[in-house]
Amino acid sequence: MQLDAHIPDGPIEKKWDEHRFHMKLVNPANKRKFHVIVVGTGLAGGAAAASMAELGYNVSAFCFQDSPRRAHSIAAQGGINAAKNYQNDGDSIYRLFYDTVKGGDFRAREANVYRLAQISVNIIDQCVAQGVPFAREYGGTLANRSFGGAQVSRTFYARGQTGQQLLLGAYQALERQIGLGKVKMFPRTEMLDVVLIDGKARGIITRNLITGKIESHVADAVVLATGGYGNVFFLSTNAKGSNTTAIWRAHRKGALFANPCYTQIHPTCIPVSGDYQSKLTLMSESLRNDGRIWVPLKKGDTRSPDKIPDSERDYYLERRYPSFGNLVPRDVASRNAKQVCDEGRGVGPGGLGVYLDFADAVKRLGEQGVRERYGNLFEMYERITGENPYQVPMRIYPAIHYTMGGLWVDYNLQSTIPGMFVGGEANFSDHGANRLGASALMQGLADGYFVLPSTIGNYLAQAKLDKADTAHAAFRDAEKEVRARTDKLTAGKKAGRSVDSFHRELGKIMWDRCGMARNAPGLQDALQKIPALREQFHAQVAVTGSGEELNQQLEKAGRVADFLELGELMCRDALQREESCGGHFREEYQTPEGEAQRNDDKFCYAAAWEWKGENQAQALHKEPLSFEHVHLTQRSYK
Ligand SMILES: Cc1cc2nc3c(=O)[nH]c(=O)nc-3n(C[C@H](O)[C@H](O)[C@H](O)COP(=O)(O)OP(=O)(O)OC[C@H]3O[C@@H](n4cnc5c(N)ncnc54)[C@H](O)[C@@H]3O)c2cc1C
Repeated sequence: MQLDAHIPDGPIEKKWDEHRFHMKLVNPANKRKFHVIVVGTGLAGGAAAASMAELGYNVSAFCFQDSPRRAHSIAAQGGINAAKNYQNDGDSIYRLFYDTVKGGDFRAREANVYRLAQISVNIIDQCVAQGVPFAREYGGTLANRSFGGAQVSRTFYARGQTGQQLLLGAYQALERQIGLGKVKMFPRTEMLDVVLIDGKARGIITRNLITGKIESHVADAVVLATGGYGNVFFLSTNAKGSNTTAIWRAHRKGALFANPCYTQIHPTCIPVSGDYQSKLTLMSESLRNDGRIWVPLKKGDTRSPDKIPDSERDYYLERRYPSFGNLVPRDVASRNAKQVCDEGRGVGPGGLGVYLDFADAVKRLGEQGVRERYGNLFEMYERITGENPYQVPMRIYPAIHYTMGGLWVDYNLQSTIPGMFVGGEANFSDHGANRLGASALMQGLADGYFVLPSTIGNYLAQAKLDKADTAHAAFRDAEKEVRARTDKLTAGKKAGRSVDSFHRELGKIMWDRCGMARNAPGLQDALQKIPALREQFHAQVAVTGSGEELNQQLEKAGRVADFLELGELMCRDALQREESCGGHFREEYQTPEGEAQRNDDKFCYAAAWEWKGENQAQALHKEPLSFEHVHLTQRSYK
C-alpha cells in the first residue's frame, strides 16, 4: 500500500489557503442533501458537528455519556496555545510551528503543524466570540501563561478549567444546531462498528446503552472524534470511560493505525497511592510556571521537606536545563523524575515522587496571588492527599496522560477508508512523538472548527456516492457481527474473574514494558504475555446481566477486549522502532547524558499498521517524513 498524505504543493505558509481555494465546494442548496455522522462530541467532535450543521449539512452526533458536556475534554485544565503574540515576547506562527515540530522530536508532518499554528489564532477569536471566559489582564486584554517546551507565553486559559469552558462554548454551538433540527444528538449511544459500502465509509452500528438495542445509521461520510486510548494502561489521567473501541473497530475494517506506541507521560500527576486505585489525577503543567521541582541531594533522605535546607536540595531541572528550567517538555521532565527516583532520591511512600514546591511563589506573590492563578488545582490536591500545598510542597510523579498515536490521516484528516475522517486525539495528530502542553485543545478545535468542515465538503462534492440505506447487506452483516460479539461476552461466566482484573493486569504489563522506558527483551516479553492474557480473558471473564439492558460490565468488557488487541500492536510498534524519540524511550538508544537518541537515517517515518486478520500480525507501512523548515537536530533544552 502506498501512503499518500496529499500534502499540497507550494510554500508552507500558503499551502492551506491555496488548498482551500482549490477545494471543491458544495453549493448551499446541495449541502442539505448530505448527511454526516460525527462520533464523539468532545472538543473535536462537538466543534465539527456544530460547524458542519452551521454550514447546512445534516448531522447525526453520538456520544456514550449522557451529555456532550461530559466528554473527557472537560477535564483539560491548563490552557490552549495560540500564536497571538499578545505578550510581545517574540511569538509568531513560525515560532509556534518550530516549537511544535521540535517538541514532537521531528516525528510530525511539517505541513500539518504549520497549518495548526496558523489556525491557532482563529480558534481564540472563535471562542471569545462564543463567550468563553478566558482569563484577562487588568486592562481587559486576554492573559497568557507559559507551558513546557516554549520560551514565550502563548497559553490562553480559564483558571484551571480551560477544557470545561471551551467545551461549554462548543456545546452551546452544538445545542443551537440541535434546536434548529440540523443535528440529531444520540447520547448514551456507543458506536461498535463502522460500515463500508463499495470501500467507502457509509455508516455505523451502535448500541443504545440504556436499552441495549443494536441499530444502524447511514450517512455520506463518517467522522471519528472519539478521543485517546491512554486507558490501555488502566491507570491514567484520562476519564475512566475513554477507550479505543471506535478507532479499533475502524482499524479492523481497513483504517491504518499510526504510531500506536507514542504515548505521553505527564510529569505532574499525584503519585499512585495503592493497589486498589483506579484513576490518577493530573496536576496541570501550568503549575510549573511557579512551582519549583526538586528532590533531596542525598539518597534515602527521609527528612520532611521543611527540614531540608536549600543547599541540600537538587533542583534537577533547573540544574540540567538552565534555559528552560522547570518548563522543559513533558517527556524530558518525566524521564528526569524517573531517573532521580531510580537513583533512590524520590520522596513519599515507595520513593516514587518528587516535590513541586510553591514556597518561593507564595513569598513572591502572596498566598492570594497563588490562589488566584491555581486555586482550584490546589483545592483538588488537598482533597485527594489531605496536604495543604500552600504550606507543604506537592508530591508528583509521571503518569500516562495522552496518546499521540491514533488512526493515520492525510492532510485532509481522511483515514485510509475513503469517507472516514478522524479528528482530535483519535487521529495520529500533529504532535509527533511528544505533544507540547496546551496543544491538544488547539489541535482538537483546529480540526473541528476549521479543517474538517472544509475537507469533508471537498470529499462530498466529488465522491459520487450511490444511494444507500440501512437495509443494505453491509449494515445487516455488521449488525450481526456486533450482536455476536456482545452475545459472546454475555454468554460466558457469570461469576469469576472481573473485567477490571484483566484490565489492571494488562495495564501493568503495558506500564512495565511499554511505559516510560522500553527495551527489546521487555517488549518481547509483553508480546508473549498479552496474547495469553487475551485468551484467558475470552475464556474466563465474568459479565453479569444481558445485552438487552443497561449493562456497564458489558460496556467495559467490550472496551477491554479491544485494549487487549491494541496493547499488542503498541508493543510491536515500540519494538520495531529501534530509536528513542519523544515519549518513546528505548533504553538501548540514549545519548551519554541520558537523552533520547533518534536514528533519522532509519526511522524518520510515521509507522502505519494495517490489520491483517484475527491473531495475525499487522503489516507495517511507512510514511517518510521530511523536514525542510525545521532542520533535524538533536533536541536541546539546555
Ligand atoms: C486531566 C487532563 C488535563 C488536560 N489538560 C489539557 C490542557 O490544559 N490543554 C490541552 O491542550 N490539553 C489538555 N489535555 C488533553 C485534552 O484534554 C484532550 O486531548 C482532548 O480534550 C481530547 O478531545 P477530543 O475531542 O479528541 O476527545 P474527548 O474529549 O475524549 O471526546 C471523545 C468523545 O468521543 C465519544 N466516544 C468515544 N468512543 C465512542 C464510541 N465508541 N461511541 C460513541 N461515542 C464515543 C465520547 O463520548 C466523547 O464524546 C488534558 C487531558 C487530561 C487527561
